[in-house]
Amino acid sequence: MSLRIGVLALQGNFARHAQAFDDLGQPVVEVRHVRQLEDLDGLIIPGGETTTLLNLMQDEPWFEALGELHARGGALFGTCAGAILLSREVNDPVQPSLGLLDATIRRNAFGRQIDSFEARIELAGSDQPLTAVFIRAPRFEQIGSDVDVLARLDDEPVLLRQGQVLAATFHPELTPDRQLQRMFIEMAGRASRIQETTTEDRTADAPVTVPLNQERRITC
Ligand code: GLN
Repeated sequence: MSLRIGVLALQGNFARHAQAFDDLGQPVVEVRHVRQLEDLDGLIIPGGETTTLLNLMQDEPWFEALGELHARGGALFGTCAGAILLSREVNDPVQPSLGLLDATIRRNAFGRQIDSFEARIELAGSDQPLTAVFIRAPRFEQIGSDVDVLARLDDEPVLLRQGQVLAATFHPELTPDRQLQRMFIEMAGRASRIQETTTEDRTADAPVTVPLNQERRITC
């Protein structure tokens, strides 16, 4: 069965994300309304500006719906502003976030002088380094013990995974490397299998178990 992946298309760099997955033969739906999340296996939350994004998200119950997507095993991939939105705590300024990733993050943490730059980073489990583009990037300041660091810039974590949540402080859609898109397709595949199992369980009237870390805090 084909996977259903969406990209949050309220604001920011969503078209390039869709293109990057398209390169791999995986179509991506542009998501502008909460109801479109219902049948997704995975959602990309693109870079942009979180202040604007949070304003636009007030029109519909996005926080609840994204929490539900996560709770039923759906995969989430936040890049830059998306990573900020997923984190448990946001600084500079303090602002609401989904709290689906156990991390504290600081916005625009590299200062004005170097507000955009490129760097080569090593990706855990891969012998191919990745070129990462940072644009007014945030910094992870603290991460929980359940969070895996998949890449660092110098000593700092720049790519994290916690269960079905993947978060990058850079922009993987802007470079031709597709390793992270492949990783996310695998995560969405896992979501699809979980959902098939739970549907079968429901038909059999058995208790539904979702074998994922469901702990999440909504901080808004
Ligand atoms: N600076 C933006 C914010 O704090 C994020 C930048 C980006 O997504 N490229 O929301």
